[in-house]
Amino acid sequence: RATLYIVATPIGNLSELTPRAKEILENADVIAAEDTRNTMKLLSHFQIDTRLIAHHKFNESASSKGIVSLLREGKSVAVVSDAGYPLISDPGSELVQEVIEAGYPVVPVSGSNAMLNALVASGLSPQPFLFYGFLPSNERQRIRELQTLKHYPMTLVFYEAPHRIEKMLNNCLEVLGDRPMCLARELTKKHEEFLRGTIQEVLPVAATRKGEMVVIIAGDEEKKAPDVTQAMPLIKEHIQ
Ligand code: SAM
Repeated sequence: RATLYIVATPIGNLSELTPRAKEILENADVIAAEDTRNTMKLLSHFQIDTRLIAHHKFNESASSKGIVSLLREGKSVAVVSDAGYPLISDPGSELVQEVIEAGYPVVPVSGSNAMLNALVASGLSPQPFLFYGFLPSNERQRIRELQTLKHYPMTLVFYEAPHRIEKMLNNCLEVLGDRPMCLARELTKKHEEFLRGTIQEVLPVAATRKGEMVVIIAGDEEKKAPDVTQAMPLIKEHIQ
């Protein structure tokens, strides 16, 4: 019974809460939520009245210890964030480590996630991909991070806030060059939208958009090409 459930919640459309997630939220002894008021809205929509406690980035250490104590008492705990999967650009990783160390089971409960929804509809190569999350808000640090990512052959996936999107895409254009990209907005919601094109094409339109957004950018194409010089001796061997 003493189990930590990592429960994914909707990123917009409430119908995306799975029946299994609903059942686990109903039957858990405690729900640990990033924002209890926010989660309260979800729970009241589904008429769930499980006890709520706060578990957010400002109390993660203390509340992780509290959650382990609840598990020691034989209680089951479901952890949720405001949207999507806990831990994915959200709190929870410290908690999972503590619970594993304490020897209790950690059970993931599938559901909605902005990165994967964006990736599969982007039209860009889904594998390999690198999920970065939010780039630093400080421009110098952001540019430094992009300089490292510049040589990666994987599709790059970022989360970004609408008030930073124009600056962020400008930095991407400067550092990565004009690559194919997709901006996925308001996923699963009424005004869901995908802007596809090169960074230069998408940038002016993206700058006019608000709401929640995921930015997907093609990886370094040069690195994707097979290294012919290395393959040459091998080919020669086969020919001889
Ligand atoms: N845990 C979440 C997940 O699994 O996707 C992500 C939480 S993170 C704090 C919030 C960011 O996720 C937003 O700034 C945005 O980049 C992205 N996001 C969340 N919901 C979204 C949606 N409906 N459409 C597009 N992006 C979304």
